[in-house]
Amino acid sequence: MSVMKAPENTPVWTDEDRCKACDLCVSVCPAGVLAMRYEPHSVLGAMITVSHPESCIGCQECELACPDFAIFVADRKEFKFAKLTDQAKERQEQIVANKYMMLGA
Ligand code: SF4
Ligand code: SF4
Repeated sequence: MSVMKAPENTPVWTDEDRCKACDLCVSVCPAGVLAMRYEPHSVLGAMITVSHPESCIGCQECELACPDFAIFVADRKEFKFAKLTDQAKERQEQIVANKYMMLGA
């Protein structure tokens, strides 16, 4: 089922039925918000996960990068986003180094 309406108090959310596990959104996120989790039932064995929503800065890069319209970002008028921190940037570097997979999984 498509998620068209913004869930309340949520900065970024996904439609797993559309996600093809291409990693693009994870690669463009500056704040280590997104990562792939192992998902044996999906075609590529992975699935998008919003692992650190509290760090989302609302830049919309993920939504713009997704070729399958499977990830959505809240409107700035409806959600107060975080500021980009060094910790979030470092986490993003670690996720990239971990081939876009969730850390510690
Ligand atoms: S809106 Fe920006 S910070 Fe938030 S998950 Fe998407 S790419 Fe990351
Ligand atoms: S860019 Fe879209 S299809 Fe690719 S992993 Fe992210 S949500 Fe899934």
